[in-house]
Amino acid sequence: MRPVIGLPVCQQDGKQQFVTQTYLNAVTDSGGLPLLLPLLPDQISSDTYLKLCDGFLFCGGGDITPLLFGQEPLTSRGTTDLAMDRFHLDLMTQALESQKPILAICRGMQVMNVALGGSLFQDLSLRPLSSLSHMQPSLLRSDPSHTITLQKHSMLSDILGDTAYVNSFHHQCIDRPGRNLRVTAQASDGVIEAIEQNRHPFAIGVQWHPECLYHSQPSMKKLFTGLVNASAGIVP
Ligand code: MN
Repeated sequence: MRPVIGLPVCQQDGKQQFVTQTYLNAVTDSGGLPLLLPLLPDQISSDTYLKLCDGFLFCGGGDITPLLFGQEPLTSRGTTDLAMDRFHLDLMTQALESQKPILAICRGMQVMNVALGGSLFQDLSLRPLSSLSHMQPSLLRSDPSHTITLQKHSMLSDILGDTAYVNSFHHQCIDRPGRNLRVTAQASDGVIEAIEQNRHPFAIGVQWHPECLYHSQPSMKKLFTGLVNASAGIVP
């Protein structure tokens, strides 16, 4: 039986809740069964979602409400959704505690960081250092945009090696990493591009979008097969 990978919906517009197709493809192509997890009123669902799923994939989406990491709003860029934020943070907190495998992409990585008490730069322009353009203008989301350097002896360097080419669709980034989080990849401007939680069997956050890259860069698929295998109880 395929391991069940829970995907909390990443966006809603009042009439629809959805997950982008590329995330479903990445899980299916890697041997998992994607299960979409809707946002329901009053967080009645997280306990059940946790029992139903063997692992979790947290997807990209909007910005996290700054109040949730202790800041006043400093930029009008991006959109926020407080109910979605609370849903994701609650489920992430429980998933981390459960030790079930988690791959967190883009906003998902930021959710992992905030769930563990970390903070974000609300916009890259608010960093004290100058930043690369992390919102790539290419027509195809599968085009690489910038390089990253990986920390040795990390789960991610075991998967990708010392350096990698990644795509980039974010205007925010991690400022202060949360509890027990190790920074395992950075761009050349120092922007944090990946995190892993210490003493967790598989909790990886990446700022880029591997679900758009794995056809052209097969090594990126190992992030998803790693998630699915860990969710099946196979130790990497
Ligand atoms: Mn980037």
